[in-house]
Amino acid sequence: MAVIALITKIVRVNLLRRHPIAFSLLALLLWSALEPLPGLVDAVTGTVPAGADLVRPTAYTVLAPLSNVLDALTFLSAQRAKALLAVWVLALALWGGLRRGTLAQRLGRALLGPLAIVLLGVGAVLLPRPVPSLVTADSGVTVIDYHAHTAASHDGRPGWRAEDLAAWHAAQGFQASYVTDHNVIFNQPMDEPIRLLPGVEWSVYGQHVVALGAVAPIDRGVYDRDPRAMLGLFAELHRQGALGLASLPEYWEHHWGDLTDFVAAGVDGFEIVNCAPRAIGFPAALRAQVLQLAAQHDLLVVGASDNHGWGKVTCVWNLSSPSAHGYAANHVIARPIALAQGDWDAWTAAYTQPWLMLRALSWSERSSWITWILVILIYRAVPRRAGDSAGIGILARSLELFKVRRPPG
Ligand SMILES: [Zn+2]
Repeated sequence: MAVIALITKIVRVNLLRRHPIAFSLLALLLWSALEPLPGLVDAVTGTVPAGADLVRPTAYTVLAPLSNVLDALTFLSAQRAKALLAVWVLALALWGGLRRGTLAQRLGRALLGPLAIVLLGVGAVLLPRPVPSLVTADSGVTVIDYHAHTAASHDGRPGWRAEDLAAWHAAQGFQASYVTDHNVIFNQPMDEPIRLLPGVEWSVYGQHVVALGAVAPIDRGVYDRDPRAMLGLFAELHRQGALGLASLPEYWEHHWGDLTDFVAAGVDGFEIVNCAPRAIGFPAALRAQVLQLAAQHDLLVVGASDNHGWGKVTCVWNLSSPSAHGYAANHVIARPIALAQGDWDAWTAAYTQPWLMLRALSWSERSSWITWILVILIYRAVPRRAGDSAGIGILARSLELFKVRRPPG
């Protein structure tokens, strides 16, 4: 009995020592479950929204390690994306290069890790994949997006048609979206698979104004002269029967001191969450100030996917109540990892982004991660049959852990 206990102990210690990454990941998966984040959060109250749920397709959950990593890479601010990329590329190159082996092996490993990181980044932007969807129990609200682009925008993905945008929204639970191309009015409304509504995003004097509804062409030069001229656009939109929202990141970056002037000029609302890399880092403290201003004046607050055809997932949805007005008419439901972008310094992204991702896992996603790690661990821990080459097939592995190896020859 003592011998068996000793063998078990040796095997266990060896497993831990030989597979530190797998065991560290398992530990992190369990540890992060002690500080869980909800799948969705109300961006105004910070609470878990009642009656709205994030539904993950089976294929998304089965592939959770890939799905979650690609989502987490999508919800990075521009600065955090650069920091995360730099740290991981450098760390993996060093780790690969410093491991034992021939020079060729070490060079190969030093390149492989960074290449994998870059491929994951490209995958987050381009790879077709199952995506989570927002489902609401309240049939009185419309799940809507107020700000999204097609190829008609100069920075839209080439070939990204209104149909593609509608399919992108439908897959994530949206029932309607305004189409707001840069300075190009959208005039091909459709009803299937979701309603696409007319709008435009006017660029005037460092500000982007998302115009919703019956928009007509304007002479942008008139509004581009100075802040006062820019603010005149809101009155013009009202004359047209349209609404004007102040978009992120422009009012944060260029007009932070002018927000009460925006209100006086008739702005109908503010974006408080925008998933674009330059806007997603809008800090919670500033969001709170905008919320206070909007509540005081009964203005709309909205979330914007600001989709340009890149990336598969939105970080925000709106639950719009047609019967209500102003501040109460819209609920902004966001992914917590997106809201956290403005709360962490860029240089911490290499570890805070994975940590936020792990904390937000549902139990089914967490189980999927653990299953994948155990499968790979068992596969790698079981010794190869003596004489067999290092193939990738499980058939090349002996399933008898303690089988005595015959000396070769
Ligand atoms: Zn935009």
